[in-house]
Amino acid sequence: MVGIFFVVDNILLIHQCSLDEAEKYGDFLNYPKSHMEIWDRYYYSKYKVDFDYYPRGRVIYNIVENTYYIYYDKCLEKIIKRLNIVHENENKKYLHDFHYKCSKCNKHYAE
Ligand SMILES: [Zn+2]
Repeated sequence: MVGIFFVVDNILLIHQCSLDEAEKYGDFLNYPKSHMEIWDRYYYSKYKVDFDYYPRGRVIYNIVENTYYIYYDKCLEKIIKRLNIVHENENKKYLHDFHYKCSKCNKHYAE
């Protein structure tokens, strides 16, 4: 599975699709929807903040390496592995991505 996720108060909100349904981009398979699309559709009405307020990340799959890449906000460092986003039997790499900055990590964040 590939997907995107948010972590709201230590709770994982994840939206995934199978590799068959993913979008091919070079050597990678990617979940076809953006954080903003998913947040606005499912969570905005509940949390009343923009999609980039809470920590977030994305799981993509490298076809050549048979490895999942898990990109995440650096403030999730302590909990990212415990979230078990990708099954323990799969190859995976955990990577920071400066695109994924929540309101606490982004000093330019405007409320
Ligand atoms: Zn953060």
